[in-house]
Amino acid sequence: MIVVIKPHAPEAQIAEVIAEVEKLGYTAHPISGERHTVVAAIGDETTHHTLESLNALPQVERVLPVQKRYKLASRESRPESTVVYADGAPVGGSGFAIMAGPCSVESEEGLLATACAVKAAGATFLRGGAFKPRTSPYEFQGLGKEGLRLLRIAKQETGLKIVTELLSEHDTDAVAETADIIQIGARNAQNFRLLVAAARTGKPILLKRGLSQRIEEWLLGAEYILSSGNPNVILCERGIRTFETYTRNTLDLAAVAAVKRESHLPVIVDPSQGCGRADLVPTLCAGAVAVGADGLIIEVHPNPAEALSDGQQQVDFALFDKLMKGLQPFLSATGRTTV
Ligand code: PEP
Ligand code: MN
Repeated sequence: MIVVIKPHAPEAQIAEVIAEVEKLGYTAHPISGERHTVVAAIGDETTHHTLESLNALPQVERVLPVQKRYKLASRESRPESTVVYADGAPVGGSGFAIMAGPCSVESEEGLLATACAVKAAGATFLRGGAFKPRTSPYEFQGLGKEGLRLLRIAKQETGLKIVTELLSEHDTDAVAETADIIQIGARNAQNFRLLVAAARTGKPILLKRGLSQRIEEWLLGAEYILSSGNPNVILCERGIRTFETYTRNTLDLAAVAAVKRESHLPVIVDPSQGCGRADLVPTLCAGAVAVGADGLIIEVHPNPAEALSDGQQQVDFALFDKLMKGLQPFLSATGRTTV
């Protein structure tokens, strides 16, 4: 970190800053210019206490970090892209992962029909929430453990790998028994105890971006999982809150490109939560391929008008099939193939 001292600070005050820097375990190198003195604090910022508290000293103008706050998630720490394997199915690398299925698991019949339809159209993973994070307590909260049982049946019938959300630490074991990938939803993206509990299962974790989370904060969420000893993290851009109301969220495809540059972790896109409108989903899927995403997670329902959650953004089987066919030229142009 660099500590910038205010102009004309007396020597004694500069010495005080140097002493504080060294007390916190850094080596201090003062550099005096014509107006300013800066103190370069040498040491690993990710393992030492932050020097930002020095801003409280009256002679300090500002404190500038030099290192990134995330380490294990950074591409600097691992230049080659990570491929995460979920029960043998890859996410990342040259493949392109398609995860599809209903927002919520609603019934055995509907889930099996959806699983067969998405598999026929090219999906490898079945998504479906058994535990649903709903804004209102009066809305459908998911089938819970019964939903997990239906997901296991769907896996048995189709061989699709299962992606389902972990909403609470209490359900960690139950969800881990069923899930090939544990989804951590946007509302829990900074629930650090939940991230650590999920990480400890050893299962791959799909970490959604929080509703108003900065890229750095999102990567620090991933860092919690990685530093808990689980290297299998998949990041998922699902739109952020902005002033726009035409779409439910603003799908931040720039963040996908940025995170692919900043991190070695695979990044997928959720266009369904990303825009909240089924009619825009196919276009956003193509955009996700174009910006270098490693896969998609798409909400598909046999009859979206009757869905118990997120009906407006779920595509039906015909639109999903069309969307998948429409993606092929984009996949070939970027040298990707669906896995
Ligand atoms: C979902 O995938 O249905 C969901 C609730 O996602 P998010 O956490 O991104 O809102
Ligand atoms: Mn949903």
